[in-house]
Amino acid sequence: MSEPANLAEPVAERALSGVAGMGHVATPGEIDISHGTILYLEDVTVSFDGFRALNKLSLSIDVGELRCIIGPNGAGKTTMMDVITGKTAPDSGKVFLGQTIDLTRLNEPSIARAGIGRKFQKPTVFEQHPVWENLELAMKTDKGWLASLRARLDRAAQARIEETLALLRLEGEARRPAGELSHGQKQRLEIGMLLMQQPALLLLDEPAAGMTDDETMQLADLLNHLRGSCSMMVVEHDMEFVAALAGDTGMVTVMAEGSVLAHGTLDAVKNDPTVIESYLGR
Ligand code: ADP
Ligand code: MG
Repeated sequence: MSEPANLAEPVAERALSGVAGMGHVATPGEIDISHGTILYLEDVTVSFDGFRALNKLSLSIDVGELRCIIGPNGAGKTTMMDVITGKTAPDSGKVFLGQTIDLTRLNEPSIARAGIGRKFQKPTVFEQHPVWENLELAMKTDKGWLASLRARLDRAAQARIEETLALLRLEGEARRPAGELSHGQKQRLEIGMLLMQQPALLLLDEPAAGMTDDETMQLADLLNHLRGSCSMMVVEHDMEFVAALAGDTGMVTVMAEGSVLAHGTLDAVKNDPTVIESYLGR
């Protein structure tokens, strides 16, 4: 396969202020990562008619980390993503992007603009449009640019689309209508569309669902290539997929009944008696 496209570059262009671990002055509108944390949840509670879908959930994700989240159905994983993206307001608790952006005070579009991209389970691509155009349409348009720079910018934009196509392994499909792609290809295209917006944090809810084994491993490859350039939170049931992402040292968070049940390497959590009980006890 071709070299992983130069995606680290455009993604890194997003305004991240501060160097992890070093003191600095926060800049308004930028994500302050001076403490090395991209996402911080503390004691987040969400109730639906008295039922606690999230119950004092606390977790944090480091800048550049690829965090896998597992847990039985109904554990609150999707609800957590709803809270992070502003779809659901928590009853209580803190939800921060970096040190300074309080996500509970922002609506969904503002949170997306702040740098959080979300991949839902079903692919939502523009089926009638060619793959290339899907990426073009998804690209952020910088309205403030001087018109005289437009030609050069368009070339830069084209280069980014080419790079993203290579990263997605969809170079050969650029001119095909997205509706003709396989399920796995559509899922990768949608991730590419999110990447065009240069997210600081990408949330993926069961991205491997419905994929063949080959498609699942291609998706794992893609996410592993993105590691470091973009922070990611991946909710998934497929354990082989989780193993491909977490490796021996990656942190895996296990959720159950609305809070964190266990946290550690995949091996550690798989052998944790409370985790085994939570899966088997259902
Ligand atoms: P997971 O994604 O881990 O399977 P969810 O976050 O979808 O879990 O759901 C957690 C719990 O909250 C479930 O019991 C679910 O039925 C309930 N729930 C989720 N959304 C709503 C809602 N909008 N209204 C009522 N109950 C909900
Ligand atoms: Mg879910």
